[in-house]
Amino acid sequence: MIRADLHLHTNRSDGVMSPELLCHECIQNGLTYIAVTDHDTMAGSDSLVSMAPPVVVIPAVEMSMEDMPGLHLLAYGTAQGNMLREKLSYLASMREERAKEMIRKLSVLGMKLSYRDLAYKRKLEGGQDSTIGRPHIARALVRAGYCKSMQEAFAKYIGNNKPAYVPSVRMAIRDAIPLVNASGFIPVLAHPRELHLEEQVLQGFLDRLCDLGLRGLEVYHPSASSYGYESLRHMAEERHLLVTGGSDFHQENDGKHGKIGCMMQVWEKCTEDMSQFQAELLKMEQTMSIAESEVRSRG
Ligand SMILES: [Zn+2]
Ligand SMILES: [Zn+2]
Repeated sequence: MIRADLHLHTNRSDGVMSPELLCHECIQNGLTYIAVTDHDTMAGSDSLVSMAPPVVVIPAVEMSMEDMPGLHLLAYGTAQGNMLREKLSYLASMREERAKEMIRKLSVLGMKLSYRDLAYKRKLEGGQDSTIGRPHIARALVRAGYCKSMQEAFAKYIGNNKPAYVPSVRMAIRDAIPLVNASGFIPVLAHPRELHLEEQVLQGFLDRLCDLGLRGLEVYHPSASSYGYESLRHMAEERHLLVTGGSDFHQENDGKHGKIGCMMQVWEKCTEDMSQFQAELLKMEQTMSIAESEVRSRG
């Protein structure tokens, strides 16, 4: 029997646990098949894979799309994924620039933060390759005494359209799905219910994503609980999409995300779904290695 959680965050993005601790907790929860899907970085996933823990680990990432809020694309794969990795590191360098620009705007407003201190602190929290984002700046504003809370930092300065806000650089879904496929990864739409679309609109949107090459739908996510999971499962099956699921765990009781392994309470066909998923991963891996050896033989 497979017990899966394919949506987990670590301190390499905005979760709090190290990949090591998270993995330990997953094993304690009886999971056998897991993926770390940090935002826009594979650092957490890579360090979990390199630990070779006694569970199946699928390399993965969750990317935010520019098209609309809440539109996140999950990518899973065992291939090298070089094109995807190059794009992620380009986006990471753009995030560094964005953080510097926000710090510059804050200094104009009389708040002095040092980018070096921020980068150092971030490394302590999440390691060299963790992503830098607005939560890091919000925490720095609190530490420096300019704000009483992170909420205040967002509400006054760095929230959307506030005086020190700088928009982020993201991929469009029409580019991201083909890129994920071409990298030998499986593109899966994350938490479709977080898009808050009417049923008909969601169906039409899914059709468009399928035309772009979408391969899976995250049916079992806490955000779908109030709708029931059957409607999403049906949408996936109608379109021959793989069915995945995960808790979106970030930290204990943050009120917004699930607990590690929580989807196992409702995901009855987990073993079947994950067997299909695994078969698809294998197929991708083989296709990629054939393509790579053809490139090599052409010299
Ligand atoms: Zn998400
Ligand atoms: Zn997530």
